[in-house]
Amino acid sequence: MKKIALDMDDVIADYVGKAIKTYEEEFDTKVDKSLMDGKKVWQIIPEEHAKVVRSFPYRAGFFRDLAIKPGARETIEELQQKYEVFIVTAAMEFPGSFLDKYEWIKEYLPNFSWRNLVFCGHKHIIDADYLVDDHDKNLNTFTSGEPILFSAPHNTHLDCYRRFDNWQDLHDYFL
Ligand SMILES: [Mg+2]
Repeated sequence: MKKIALDMDDVIADYVGKAIKTYEEEFDTKVDKSLMDGKKVWQIIPEEHAKVVRSFPYRAGFFRDLAIKPGARETIEELQQKYEVFIVTAAMEFPGSFLDKYEWIKEYLPNFSWRNLVFCGHKHIIDADYLVDDHDKNLNTFTSGEPILFSAPHNTHLDCYRRFDNWQDLHDYFL
């Protein structure tokens, strides 16, 4: 079976959505999403706010209640019939996220085996047939198979990869 490596944040779990919601609540403001093309939330808000937003992923529990992307669970279960599916997340960047991420997967993807979970540092070590990820820095070092970009506000400017806008696109391509 071919191997598909799926990134977690902003592919399976909605990190950007939680970051925006948390920022808006804590600062009693609204993010102008029209400014987000090619940018992260912290790049379009006042500098003194940006520092706080950039600290979100270091907060205990921040990754524990992200929303799952529509269609992700059903599609992953279908993919598993035809492919070896791995969740590959650069969790080393935010060491406090390990347990949150593990428990999140147990809750939202209860049939996903721990054997197929890869908590790693840099993803260039990953050897799979496909890597689906929202970050250029992960895709441009992926040499063992096809790198595929999953759309997120910060990657709208990239046009050097096959792109999935959502899980329906992913479903249509692989299944
Ligand atoms: Mg990601």
